Amino acid sequence: MSLPTVRKVMYGICLIGFILLISSVAVPDEYNLKPVFQLIGYLILICGGIFSLIFYRCPGCHGLLHSKGFFTPKYCSHCGDELE
Ligand SMILES: [Zn+2]
Repeated sequence: MSLPTVRKVMYGICLIGFILLISSVAVPDEYNLKPVFQLIGYLILICGGIFSLIFYRCPGCHGLLHSKGFFTPKYCSHCGDELE
């Protein structure tokens, strides 16, 4: 999987988790679904984290890449290779 694809999937998974967490506020209390939305949201966020730990790595040295928020690194912090 290419690095831009990994980034898109990683941010997509995290976005879905955040949307579920935020939408849990809007769920009416009568259905008692807030904890379910929150639990699923947290689980999806954890899956996004695990996905990034497994796949968001330098193609050259396979070192874990560090993104600062939505800013993507231009160079690998481990081997100095230029990233896509
Ligand atoms: Zn590297």
